[in-house]
Amino acid sequence: MKQEVLKVSQSSVAQALATDYFCIYYVNTITDKFIEYSASPEYRELGLPTSGDDIIGFSRTNFEQFIYPDDRKRFMQTFTKDNIMSSLDAHGTFTMTFRFMFREVPTYVHLKVTRMVEKEARHVVIGISSVDEQMQVREAYEKAHHASLTYNHVAQALAGDYFSIYVVDPDADHFIEYSSSGDYDQLGIEKSGDDFFGLSRFNMARVIYPEDKDRFLGTFTKDKIMSILERDGSFTMKYRLMVGGEPTYVSMKATLMHDEAGRHLIFGTNNIDAQMKREEAYRREMAAARTTARNDFLANMSHDIRTPMNAIVGYTNIAKQHPEDPEAVRSALDKIGSASHFLLSLINDILDISKIESGRMQLNEAACDLGDVFRRIEDITALQASDKSLNVSYDRSSVRHYRVLADELRIEQILVNIISNAIKYTPEGKSVELIAEETPAPDPAKNRYRFIIRDTGIGISEDYLPHIFESFTREENTKLNRVQGTGLGLAITARIVELMDGTIRVKSKPGEGSEFTVEIDLQPYEESPSEETVSAHSTADLTGCRILLVEDNDINAEIAAMALAQYGAETERADNGLAGLEKIKNSAPGHYDAVLMDIQMPVMNGYECTREIRALGDPSTVSGTASEESAERPAAAARYYLTLPIIAMSANAYDEDIRDCLQAGMNAHVAKPFDPDHLAQTLEQYIHKGTSSEAAGQ
Ligand code: ADP
Repeated sequence: MKQEVLKVSQSSVAQALATDYFCIYYVNTITDKFIEYSASPEYRELGLPTSGDDIIGFSRTNFEQFIYPDDRKRFMQTFTKDNIMSSLDAHGTFTMTFRFMFREVPTYVHLKVTRMVEKEARHVVIGISSVDEQMQVREAYEKAHHASLTYNHVAQALAGDYFSIYVVDPDADHFIEYSSSGDYDQLGIEKSGDDFFGLSRFNMARVIYPEDKDRFLGTFTKDKIMSILERDGSFTMKYRLMVGGEPTYVSMKATLMHDEAGRHLIFGTNNIDAQMKREEAYRREMAAARTTARNDFLANMSHDIRTPMNAIVGYTNIAKQHPEDPEAVRSALDKIGSASHFLLSLINDILDISKIESGRMQLNEAACDLGDVFRRIEDITALQASDKSLNVSYDRSSVRHYRVLADELRIEQILVNIISNAIKYTPEGKSVELIAEETPAPDPAKNRYRFIIRDTGIGISEDYLPHIFESFTREENTKLNRVQGTGLGLAITARIVELMDGTIRVKSKPGEGSEFTVEIDLQPYEESPSEETVSAHSTADLTGCRILLVEDNDINAEIAAMALAQYGAETERADNGLAGLEKIKNSAPGHYDAVLMDIQMPVMNGYECTREIRALGDPSTVSGTASEESAERPAAAARYYLTLPIIAMSANAYDEDIRDCLQAGMNAHVAKPFDPDHLAQTLEQYIHKGTSSEAAGQ
């Protein structure tokens, strides 16, 4: 009886359970035959046989097409006889979950193979049940859980850095505070509500630093912020809030986010006070450093300019007081001359360094003869060394190519600076040598020129050596020894070498001497250098030449007239450009041999005056003139106005000033203060060129 009840109950339990299954198969593992025990309507619709042999082969063959494609591979790999048997042996069951297509809907199913508990252990049951609902719930849970886990962690981690974070729904106009710091809470601002923008404007007007209020309110309107966010996605604004009575820098960042729930604005405000204060302190430090540098510069300048000025003023007074003593006058004039010379070189150095520092120094490369450069350097330095009875030697025996493309004035400046220092810082009786060598350069089109300047002078200390190329630095001992200098020469030298893509090195031992090595790669130039090079060795002769001085400054005009008189020239003067032009117009063509033209003058400047003079020779101007006299003006007159040498003589001595002079139609430029020899030679060169070209034209 008990047995019966059990049997009945077992089958009803089996039936009751079977309703949860899509299908149940009963398999004899000895005969390998199987029979369907139960099947649901949707399973029946698949039209599979209800019995057969080899259940595993049957399942693999028939199920594959009904398995959801993503799960097929896994099914075929897992649902094998070996896997099933070894799992049954180990656990008594084999299970797997995959998606089955029922009526074209992927449905999660659970396949379970169970060994029947019986004596022979000959049977297994295979059942497939739906776990779709659980899986969907689980999937949704995992997704939600994972998402919220990630968002929460990230948001929490970031929120710690923020002063406050708000989430705003711009469409419903609702907002809620996501997080806030203690400092922010003290401001007493609503943590949620409607009309975020209106309330923020109201609250900010109360807690913002007054200086930032108008700017904030001017920007923080819903229309403006939304249009920026729609365009850029985010918006940042810095301002100061009054926190604990102190203005505190904050940076507010608004971001527009889109998700399934619609669009949201996130407003995060960051406390950036410490960072802003650090930046402010840095800016103040930099400004202070600039002021110190400027003050040092002015102090240096003031000292360095006053020293030679003091000599000039002082010796001028001495000379005036002793007109009866030619010896005293001559000695005073010598000292005035050398102080003036120093002052001029100082001013040139200041111009150079300011040009270098503003990036305006350019090289003027042209064909040049290094032989001329060496000769000039030898002349200058021999003169400097002669006062000290130094043994100065020059060796340029290994130089093969003298004609090169280079900025010869700058090369001369480099070498003169270094050799002058060697002479300055080397005591009497010791030696200075300049060696120039030529070797191949890495660029086959160029040659490498190495200049070694060696002295047996006072040397340079190890501490100072790394600073030797910095502006306004000088070694203490040189200051104490009262050797004149500004500490600019080597700074300029090094920067010019750098402009030439060259290198400069220095080795030195205090008490033993110093060695400077400069290397520059230069391209050889085969043809003879331009005729325009002024030879430094001829003495100019301007006998019989008439020169028009267009100069507004009386002293400068007098100095120029007296200087030119020494070379035999006669001068006439006009005190501005217009007066100069009138003089030329009112005199016969050919009356003047050349014009010395100042640039900055009242009424008409030098550029304009030059252009007007050249225009007199322009054929269109000549033929367009109504006057009979000018209509008959011979071609020679036109040529006169076009070729009359006009030499700028100006204190505007930057490269661009020189270029402007040439562009206006002048022939050359001589800087003020001028060297009389150089001025006379330049005039002579252009006057003779003009004569020869006129001769050639006839
Ligand atoms: P300065 O006008 O003072 O000569 P420089 O820039 O030319 O300025 O040189 C900077 C400093 O380097 C000099 O003041 C001097 O202390 C040191 N110096 C330069 N050349 C030599 C040298 N040949 N021997 C010793 N000291 C030198």
